[in-house]
Amino acid sequence: MTTVGFCRACGNNTFTQGKLGNGYTSVTPVDKMFGSSPLIITFCKECGEVASIKVKNPKKF
Ligand SMILES: [Zn+2]
Repeated sequence: MTTVGFCRACGNNTFTQGKLGNGYTSVTPVDKMFGSSPLIITFCKECGEVASIKVKNPKKF
């Protein structure tokens, strides 16, 4: 659970987070051979509108 304000789609203020990235769908650097990071997605628990997508380990890039 996190606070990111109100959902821009439905006005609900309950959000939850999920992780995207299991090796195949992780974000990888454009110009480096190594390093990758999952994405943390914060979305509305009511309608699923995505409020925020974050790279979990930006320092790896
Ligand atoms: Zn919503």
